[in-house]
Amino acid sequence: MIPGARLIILGRQGAGKGTQCVRLSRHYVVPHISTGDMLRAAVREGTELGLAAQKIMDKGGLVGDDIMVGLVDERLQRLDAASRGYILDGFPRTVEQAKSLDGITTDRPIHVVIDLDVPREVVVARISARRVCRDCGTNYTATGREKQPWICEVCGGDVMQRDDDTPDAVHRRLDLYEEQTAPLIQFYGDDGRLVVVDGTQTTDQVFGALTEVIERSRR
Ligand code: AMP
Repeated sequence: MIPGARLIILGRQGAGKGTQCVRLSRHYVVPHISTGDMLRAAVREGTELGLAAQKIMDKGGLVGDDIMVGLVDERLQRLDAASRGYILDGFPRTVEQAKSLDGITTDRPIHVVIDLDVPREVVVARISARRVCRDCGTNYTATGREKQPWICEVCGGDVMQRDDDTPDAVHRRLDLYEEQTAPLIQFYGDDGRLVVVDGTQTTDQVFGALTEVIERSRR
């Protein structure tokens, strides 16, 4: 058990962060806070934020730092995150966001930042086959033999391809990752919070490596 653990999982889109975060969140019973899922929920609900975010997300761009920091700040103050800890997925995505996160977590700092490392060529292939439950966020890999409509085996929701998983948007997101998010590896490396995990292993091996890092960080 890791009561109160506060983690960030970094990595290219398609590195398997979502799948691993869902599994870690069940294993440790800590909230999985995915900013992408929060934005997709806002898009579905048709809120003002959702309408603005959708245009940016469909093109593979990044939503403004102030909006994202505000969303995360609010979420981290909820009782579950404050008492159980949390796993942050998709945030921070820029050095500015990381600095703001340090500012809003001075009382309870992040314990460990894990970079789930998968090379670009590998993630492009993975993302084309990625399908996601629109309700609970469980990730699946399409083989082309699935029954349609595809129903999530965890919650019964619809399993679909994300609107932003088109080839153009995928390449734009990966370019943005190199420009905006990769500098976080140095940012967290410099202060000793970063651990790199090889994300090209099987999902079980990656999960084993992640739990080992998390438990080591809490000893
Ligand atoms: P994800 O599910 O993490 O791949 O996020 C999907 C999309 O949501 C991204 O391509 C961005 O457009 C937007 N997004 C999610 N998290 C952030 C963030 N921390 N900062 C800016 N935009 C974000």
